[in-house]
Amino acid sequence: MSFDFSHELLELARQAEAQAALRFAAIDEVAFANTRKVLSAFTNHRVSDTYFAGTTGYGYDDQGRDKLEEIYAEVFGAEAALVRTGFVNGSHALACGMFACVSTGETMLSVTGNVYDTLQTVTGQHGKLGGTFADYGIGFETVDMKDGLPDLEAIRVRAAQPHIKAVYIQRSRGYAIRHTLSIDEIAEVCKVVREVNPEAVIMVDNCYGEFCDTREPTQVGADLIAGSLIKNPGGGLAPTGGYIAGRKDLVERAAFRLTLPGIGGECGSTNGLNRSLYQGFFMAPHITAQALKTAAFCSALMGILGYDVSPVGDRAGLDIIHTVNFGAPEKLLAFCRGIQAGSPVDSYVTPEAWAMPGYDDPVVMAAGAFIQGSSIELSCDGPMRPPYAAFIQGGLTYESGKLGILTAVQELLRLERK
Ligand SMILES: *Cc1c(COP(=O)(O)O)cnc(C)c1O
Repeated sequence: MSFDFSHELLELARQAEAQAALRFAAIDEVAFANTRKVLSAFTNHRVSDTYFAGTTGYGYDDQGRDKLEEIYAEVFGAEAALVRTGFVNGSHALACGMFACVSTGETMLSVTGNVYDTLQTVTGQHGKLGGTFADYGIGFETVDMKDGLPDLEAIRVRAAQPHIKAVYIQRSRGYAIRHTLSIDEIAEVCKVVREVNPEAVIMVDNCYGEFCDTREPTQVGADLIAGSLIKNPGGGLAPTGGYIAGRKDLVERAAFRLTLPGIGGECGSTNGLNRSLYQGFFMAPHITAQALKTAAFCSALMGILGYDVSPVGDRAGLDIIHTVNFGAPEKLLAFCRGIQAGSPVDSYVTPEAWAMPGYDDPVVMAAGAFIQGSSIELSCDGPMRPPYAAFIQGGLTYESGKLGILTAVQELLRLERK
């Protein structure tokens, strides 16, 4: 494939870029401020290449690992952090964080509706698995969102109840029909919770949100955040893992859950991966900006073509995900196939809609990534049901993201003109 596009499509792309110019400038400013934070933390901690060697076996005294955790903590304005490739994914880090916040007889209240799909098994909503909240006698309740945003009045009432010991907030929309919360909106929820229940621990699922703002939830009232290293903070270089950051006692409890009480974060060999984690975190503000620009370009272009896109206006860019409604299954499929064809890896593969565990309808997924399942790399997926929306995210470089989107749009235009 030579990635030659028609003059007409290239002209539309120019219009889309002109439309997105102000967004691009705002994204660059956030990336600059965040790069400054990250670079400061690196210099403050006197990072040296001896940290990259790492350990094997038990992983005692892994200076590189321990320093990186201090650097994460500084950048996220937290007391402590746990940054580990021993977390198999973001959900694992989140689950360890959740168990750190509540004990038997206590209840966690999720105030952004239900938790992300993969965490519903943790709370014990699906069947009789062992090791769940339900299994340990931990309660879990939810407050639904109102018009896609936190229902502050309901939260004020529900969070005040004495059995509520922890409040859970999901920052990103994930793959749900709701809004992604801005940092100011997270601050507002924290304020309401503190007013009615000062003792409650506040935890935030920070996935997809890191470095989209100059502040993180830990800087506006959250006690604990967690996320995935194969999304924003891994900068496309971390090969696997997750992180937790926040109050020291809670991070320690989460570490006891990850390994074992008494050992916590003191063990965990890094097996030569420290360099990727350091370099990835160093790159992360910039890489997140590349994904945000790819999304801004795609939204503008699809808007010009008459498609319904979300988010728009002030809500754009609060995380790296956006959606396009295609209105017809063959259009969704064509777009996803174009994304796949424009990927650096597995470009020759043809995505098909397929039954997925946890979904009622078949789902089509496109991803040609260097790291399996990495969604900081350009990827998209869409459930085969009205409005035939694709959830699109990532783009390691704006240039490659743009080429991927143009390839997808070319497939779509070809179909429309048949
Ligand atoms: C990606 C994501 C997770 C965790 O997903 P993993 O696939 O386990 O890394 C949790 N919550 C949200 C909102 C997410 O986007």
